[in-house]
Amino acid sequence: MSSITRKPSRSIARNGGTKTACIRTFGCQMNVHDSDRIRRMVRDAGYTEVHRYEEADIVVLNTCYVRENAVDRVRGHLGELSRLKGEGYVEKVVLIGCIGATSEAQELEHTYGVDLVLGTHNTYELAQFVGLPGMEETYTPELPGSEGEHSAFVTIMTGCNYKCSYCVVPAVRGRMVCRPLENVLDEVKRLVDTGTRYVTLLGQTVDAWRESGSRFCDLLERVSEVAPRVWFTTSHPSNMEDRTLKLIGEKDTIVKRLHLPVQSGSDKMLKVMHRGYKSERYRRKIEVFREAVSDGTLSTDIIVGHPGETEGDHEQTLQLIEDCSFDSAYIFKFSPRCGTEAAELPGAVPDGVTQRRFLEILRAVERNAFSCNQSKIGATEDIYIRHARTGDGKAVGETWSGHPVHVPTDAEPGRYVTAPISGAGPHVLYAGEPLGKSH
Ligand code: SF4
Repeated sequence: MSSITRKPSRSIARNGGTKTACIRTFGCQMNVHDSDRIRRMVRDAGYTEVHRYEEADIVVLNTCYVRENAVDRVRGHLGELSRLKGEGYVEKVVLIGCIGATSEAQELEHTYGVDLVLGTHNTYELAQFVGLPGMEETYTPELPGSEGEHSAFVTIMTGCNYKCSYCVVPAVRGRMVCRPLENVLDEVKRLVDTGTRYVTLLGQTVDAWRESGSRFCDLLERVSEVAPRVWFTTSHPSNMEDRTLKLIGEKDTIVKRLHLPVQSGSDKMLKVMHRGYKSERYRRKIEVFREAVSDGTLSTDIIVGHPGETEGDHEQTLQLIEDCSFDSAYIFKFSPRCGTEAAELPGAVPDGVTQRRFLEILRAVERNAFSCNQSKIGATEDIYIRHARTGDGKAVGETWSGHPVHVPTDAEPGRYVTAPISGAGPHVLYAGEPLGKSH
């Protein structure tokens, strides 16, 4: 028996008749951004957002298919929701996002009595489901992101034209669609006018953006002239132009942090993965970045244990980590995703071996990050506050190099403080008391 109080019958209006919605987001920043749009739709339809399933009339799960056990995680939530529905708490359950676009969606719909399943291409259908007029024309990349927040994501392209062996994105998000430059600029201007101080340009391969002769570098330059602070993610080494790397160093408003996924240091594995570049080309890009942005930080993605990966391949990845001196890395243990080429490939790496390689890579990255971070101690940094202090804790901010910093200040998100760096771990910096007021 549940310990929470049973909800009144549906005919009795709760909260003075207010309808309630709970939106749960799994996965990457693209999904966080999509949830932002979903949130606007349900709010426009008169729903108040709540954070507990038990308090919601409608629950929207915005799902991710990329990470290990993604479907199992969502199954757990759907099981709980189906029980709550049976007990009269939740009225409708909507499954949206990458899982909604896969072959498993139908089975989930039947097993858990999901009321609406949508993929990433037809999320706009939620509008009608919650009682708004059809939004097909407006629910495109042209729909603005959230306004009036101190930081905002702006999607500049969707989909992907690559076919990496392990990745489901091309299957669930389709081919690349780029948003017109003027349209992006209009949105950035609107956001800045309503108080946004930090814009992150988003796309699966953001640096592949193009429009009749203009390339990503041109768009980034235009945005950097309008936004007080701008960053972009995620990039692909084959699209990354040297002039973009140089622009990061030249423009004061661009965060000096590059996230450039390499995935492996072995040319053989890069070929098996269909990444489209060799490790030497990646190293050259990093050299250009290091030269153009002397105080820049560099992060990457690495996949460990892809089918066919030998000890020699792993050694080459360790060597590349040493050569590129990453400040951080997202390290993924390979997990086969249904519908991808890698799921069918021979040469599976035993779990124990993958785990050992994972730890070796993690330690190599952390060792390097720790010594880079230690070298920052004593420097004075302008820190952008991302999350306000809670209780006795510290606010969390970010330096112009994109380093996360814990800082003792009451400054609100979106403000800057100037403070000395007094300590460093492998993942974060620690600042002392700020010098002067926030600005
Ligand atoms: S570049 Fe590769 S890993 Fe990235 S989204 Fe496209 S297919 Fe997936």
